[in-house]
Amino acid sequence: MTATLLDGKALAATIEASLRDEVDAVTTASGRPPRLVVVLVGDVAASASYVTAKARAAARVGIDAEVVRAPGSADTAALVGLVRGIARGDQGAVDGILVQLPLPRQVDTTAVLDAVPADLDVDGFHPENAGLLSQGRPRFIPCTAAGVQRLLVDAGIPTAGRRAVIVGRSDIVGKPMALMLLHANATVTICHSRTAGLEDECRRADILVAAIGRPAFIRGSFIKPGAVVIDVGINRIVDRAEAGRIFAADSERLARFDEKGSLVTGDVHPLEVAHAAAFTPVPGGVGPLTIAMLMANTVASAEKRCSA
Ligand code: NDP
Repeated sequence: MTATLLDGKALAATIEASLRDEVDAVTTASGRPPRLVVVLVGDVAASASYVTAKARAAARVGIDAEVVRAPGSADTAALVGLVRGIARGDQGAVDGILVQLPLPRQVDTTAVLDAVPADLDVDGFHPENAGLLSQGRPRFIPCTAAGVQRLLVDAGIPTAGRRAVIVGRSDIVGKPMALMLLHANATVTICHSRTAGLEDECRRADILVAAIGRPAFIRGSFIKPGAVVIDVGINRIVDRAEAGRIFAADSERLARFDEKGSLVTGDVHPLEVAHAAAFTPVPGGVGPLTIAMLMANTVASAEKRCSA
């Protein structure tokens, strides 16, 4: 059996193309393009590259995106003040505010995220938006969960009555993903680091979502033949020995590692998914969709503001 590759990158391009028309319409109606402000704290390379990817996507669809930087030494009060200032100062002229995570260790992340007004929270992390999602009447759906749901629908993968297992229970990915699948009538199990018999739980899944943050953690034996496997994980491997362990049977990938000194891989072992019905690759699966859905949330926010 050869698993079908679910091409998130291609779907993200389609979503962006349709957003461009919406952006034109809302720009004409409101006299300005949708505006997104991204707060980037410190100089973590991975965060900076995610922010660059978001800014590039915004430019492609016609969203006016600004990156506001804060030093890595900033404390909670400074960042709360910064976010509130952006919301206040840009009153009426900003449609979305996003704080790039993770924040430095000294910062209370919850306090900073809570400072983003719920109606500008295009990441969908504010407790009010989490509550609305939980009740099945979402305002902003967290982008990764929204992207995965969109991918499943686009690929014609049914969810109703199917067993979905999500590994990971973060507020950002695991929980909203579970709620989305629950609302789509799947029978949902959420697993985490304290789950007993994780492998057996996973092997029961018709739809298996891995959002763990551990490279190649989900092995072939965790996957039921014919399951749909969604790999949310984005892990940068810099250790040659670890790359060698994971990709022992893939000389091409190892050669790429040797060339670049690093490699990005998901939470699912990429060489052990052949017996799945379909899977998302890393990179090129869920990542581009997360960004596309951020753009969709920003445009939807601008449309709401325009028609208010
Ligand atoms: P978190 O660290 O917040 O959560 C990880 C979850 O995995 C936790 O619930 C944790 O359990 C669980 N977990 C950790 N180890 C194990 C284990 N050995 N067995 C079972 N469960 C385990 O991470 P995020 O949810 O923020 O992100 C998860 C992954 O997704 C990361 O690789 C991240 O980079 C990636 N990501 C990708 C995005 C994309 O666009 N593709 C967007 C956002 C994230 P417990 O709660 O018990 O600690």
